[in-house]
Amino acid sequence: MPPHTLTIEYEEYESPNELSEDERNLLESAWAARRNSYAPYSNFNVGAAVQTKDGKVFQGSNQENANFKVSCAERVVLDSMGATGQKDNIAKLAVVGGPASLDVKQIPETIEEPITPCGQCRQDIKEAEDLSNDPIVLILASRNRIRRFVGIKQLLPFAFGPADLGISLK
Ligand SMILES: [Zn+2]
Repeated sequence: MPPHTLTIEYEEYESPNELSEDERNLLESAWAARRNSYAPYSNFNVGAAVQTKDGKVFQGSNQENANFKVSCAERVVLDSMGATGQKDNIAKLAVVGGPASLDVKQIPETIEEPITPCGQCRQDIKEAEDLSNDPIVLILASRNRIRRFVGIKQLLPFAFGPADLGISLK
């Protein structure tokens, strides 16, 4: 049997100016949300912003605790959407992050890798996407590199989900 190969698709940009206006604003909201990160243990601040299908924006940031339990920015914003009955209304999610010392205004000369959601968050995004019924646009950015994915399947192939339990959320 020949090996199978999976391909993932994404777009890559160097500047937010290359994004549509709503996505540029969403990215800006994620950077703004990052300022509320509480990360005295990792010193790694992450911000996330969700745009609903009707254009509202929700923000989240990573929140740590002395017991080293971490609530990732993505999960904070998705949980907050759940808490306000909006978990099935997600169109786009932007995530940014970096060391606490990061000077956001300073654009580095070399390319900086964008942050990417952890495994648990990918699973949470998958759940929200199933509920929302459409692929979620994911925008992952550093100061000078933006990756844009359509659908969590680009980051979580062969995902486990409600369908595996014989459950339809639609
Ligand atoms: Zn995470």
